[in-house]
Amino acid sequence: MQSFPCPFCGPRPEPEFLFVTEMGKTRPEPAAEVSAPVWAAYLHDVKNIKGEVAEVWQHLPCGQLYLMRRDTTTMAVLGVQSFRKGGAA
Ligand SMILES: [Zn+2]
Repeated sequence: MQSFPCPFCGPRPEPEFLFVTEMGKTRPEPAAEVSAPVWAAYLHDVKNIKGEVAEVWQHLPCGQLYLMRRDTTTMAVLGVQSFRKGGAA
């Protein structure tokens, strides 16, 4: 079983984590004028890039969201970073 690092809890088993989204998505605006297909694409479409990616993940036991960079071809985790100001790594 693969292990992912949580910046707050350390290495934990992969089933404890939830993929949230890819980094770099831009919310369509103004929200009141966005069509349903455009909104659905924003929420659900992912590029599914082969290689190095930056993604938002959540560690479910602690509930924290953070940035994880990983390589989708090797499954190697390249780094994690908290979104908290002055928080953990
Ligand atoms: Zn955690």
